Amino acid sequence: MTFTSAALGRIQPSATLAMTSRVLEQKAKGIDVIGLSAGEPDFDTPDFVKAAAIEAIQQGKTKYTNVDGTAELKAAIAAKFKRDNGLVYEPAQISVNVGGKHTLFNALVATVDPGDEVIIPAPYWVSYPDIVAFAGGVPVMIAAGAAQNYKVTPEQLDAAITPRTKWVLLNSPSNPSGAAYSEAELKALAEVLRRHPHVWVMTDDMYEHIVYDDFHFTTIAQVAPDLYERTLTVNGCSKAYSMTGWRIGFAGGPTWLIKAMAKLQSQSTSNPCSIAQAAATAALNGDQGFLKDRARAFQVRRDLVVGRLNAIDGIHCPVPEGAFYVYPDVSGLIGRKTPAGLVIENDEMLIGYLLDEGRVAAVHGGAFGLSPAFRVSYATSESILTTACDRIAEACAALK
Ligand code: PLP
Repeated sequence: MTFTSAALGRIQPSATLAMTSRVLEQKAKGIDVIGLSAGEPDFDTPDFVKAAAIEAIQQGKTKYTNVDGTAELKAAIAAKFKRDNGLVYEPAQISVNVGGKHTLFNALVATVDPGDEVIIPAPYWVSYPDIVAFAGGVPVMIAAGAAQNYKVTPEQLDAAITPRTKWVLLNSPSNPSGAAYSEAELKALAEVLRRHPHVWVMTDDMYEHIVYDDFHFTTIAQVAPDLYERTLTVNGCSKAYSMTGWRIGFAGGPTWLIKAMAKLQSQSTSNPCSIAQAAATAALNGDQGFLKDRARAFQVRRDLVVGRLNAIDGIHCPVPEGAFYVYPDVSGLIGRKTPAGLVIENDEMLIGYLLDEGRVAAVHGGAFGLSPAFRVSYATSESILTTACDRIAEACAALK
């Protein structure tokens, strides 16, 4: 018998955070490792956002706020949904939480009962299945590999739905693959959902502003307005505004669901940090011009990394539409031997080899539910990415 709860026993520590600790350990030993495992932009929080936070402190905005967000921030979020997504959410339809992870956690824990199924396309962001399992639900994965550009088809979605399905989780652009659904692709998924009125959609749009080429971002409630009443549109400030440490996530959805999330939050974290809320208000209300400049900088890096990885024998890297990750398929490297005579049997062994011999840290595909692959985060400088790709190429060339 253990003292810890059964719910805790159903979850694992985050694999991406575990790799980040391994990198720190190696660095502390003086080993020159390049970490491509962290999921955060290398850009700084914009100065005008920092200034708003300083002003909030000076004005004494340092006390409890309304549990699920200040009136000012809710108004800024309502304006954001209208401006960027053509969606109308009243303040009572908006929840503000301690990061996007907390938004998803609140929504799932507030709605999932034991045995309820939640459909999760794989590869998926590491926390989805764990949060579902923590809530007592059953994660139901749909595998969408490189051959289908890491996107599920309407047929796959239809086949995964059962009478126990409660939610479908969509994440576009995706962490870890960077794949994003076009408007037509989203409409085709919506067509399936129309036939299953008991299924709700939770869409995680955290990477909405990091898209490339001429990709036009849309979200499901926008392209299928008839699904608005059973959609929770999740977003946040972490990735777009380089505010990972400030911890502000939010969602728009039906009032009763927003109230249910607030009830849970009132007995756990209470309000998100008052100063971070003031900073997020400034971020959302301020000039949005820099978002495009940052996306352009990320695109140069994407092109660099995709080109370099595709030049390596045994690696196939689809070109992602967004986010700051690539997810190369490494089927061609499995079964090869390291110079020490060890056979690479899976992507976890490959990542261990790349870390020990190539001194590059990435995260193995198994952590995201689709193997053999690995995730590279290219949210770092072009010179570091070039060195990292040189090292990966050299280490892979040594596999026979
Ligand atoms: N959703 C996705 C797809 C993410 O990649 C992340 C962060 O890595 C989050 C949600 C959580 O973001 P936050 O840092 O705001 O909790």
